[in-house]
Amino acid sequence: MLDLSGLLDIALGRAAPDRVAARVPARYAPRAAAPPVVVWNVCRHCILRCPHCYASATSTPSPYDLTTEEARALIDRLAAAGVRVLILSGGEPLLRHDIVELAAHASAAGLRPVVSTSGVPLDARMAGALSAAGVGYVGVSLDGFAPFNDAYRGMPGAFDRASAGLAHARAAGMSTGVRLTVTQRNAGEVAPLVEWADARGVDRFYLSHLLYAGRGFRMAGDDLRPEESRALLERLFEAAERLIHRGAAIRLVTGGNDSDGPCLIAWIEARHGRRAARRVEAVLRRRGGNSAGERILAIDHRGRVHPDQFFTACELGDVRRQPLAEILAHPLREALARRETLLQGRCGVCAYKSLCRGSHRERALARFKALWAPDPACVMTDSEIGAPLEEPDLESTEAGTREAVV
Ligand code: SF4
Repeated sequence: MLDLSGLLDIALGRAAPDRVAARVPARYAPRAAAPPVVVWNVCRHCILRCPHCYASATSTPSPYDLTTEEARALIDRLAAAGVRVLILSGGEPLLRHDIVELAAHASAAGLRPVVSTSGVPLDARMAGALSAAGVGYVGVSLDGFAPFNDAYRGMPGAFDRASAGLAHARAAGMSTGVRLTVTQRNAGEVAPLVEWADARGVDRFYLSHLLYAGRGFRMAGDDLRPEESRALLERLFEAAERLIHRGAAIRLVTGGNDSDGPCLIAWIEARHGRRAARRVEAVLRRRGGNSAGERILAIDHRGRVHPDQFFTACELGDVRRQPLAEILAHPLREALARRETLLQGRCGVCAYKSLCRGSHRERALARFKALWAPDPACVMTDSEIGAPLEEPDLESTEAGTREAVV
């Protein structure tokens, strides 16, 4: 996640880098044996039918979901390993009958539970229970306003219920966020939805790029072209700066494409000069880029572990069958830790490689069937990254994939 508002605060001389880093300590923490953040898809079923769902959510519960007993034991193991933030996601996590119990158990174990939901089942009673269980943040996914959101997500009234869910969460004392996954179909919804979220006291607007995972794989043709993503990002940077000058509390962030970082540096340099850009670049170098498998891991509904929630093509282990230490020792984690030496094509020679780290590997896998190939959604031009290049050598890249994935 790239904290656009925080980084612009640094560029504008309004905040010290340490203050911005302190807001997301897990993102700046030194790499350790266990990742500080785990995304856990507590179930696979959902009431909505989003076409980009990376979990390929189903309408009925899976018989393979972890039981309450297994789930509580998993939380204890994660806490003992040093995990600090547990993102409870799905499917729709609020459909799990024991979700409040699990959130409370995570809090008691010393983890910080947060919830990622469609917002549809988030009524006042659920919001109060989650808050009492120690959940401090609820992120609600929307794809735009009604009627687009409702048609896209397959449920009449979904937008209004999500909007009410955000209000219930705020009333219960939790911070809130709106998350939108952008494609060709809803890029026009972004700017008005930012204003809408700000007017309703939402704390964070999260623009997520499309990941080609789950049903999202079939949506790859609807992804924005890199130059379209770039234009949208630059409008978002302008919006973030406008909101800062207006004194708005909402923070704008992006995720799902680590080339957003170099893009922000280039935009700041053009608008605010070299010194402002260098201040931001120093922070991004300290933060590093994509950290799938290092600062983040994902556990799916049946206990299989992946480098992140979108990276389901690669499995590091299974919490039902293996101790966590064995899963954490998977050779793919070691390969990801030195990914900068393995990246190929334009990512391999990129001048921004150390602060982007090749962005998302699952998109390279989906497009090129090669783990270390370039991320096809990179928003930087060849001249900006320092070298015009030929297409990746997929034959040798695939050999690298086989070695790394094992
Ligand atoms: S070329 Fe690769 S490493 Fe460089 S900015 Fe683009 S995605 Fe990131």
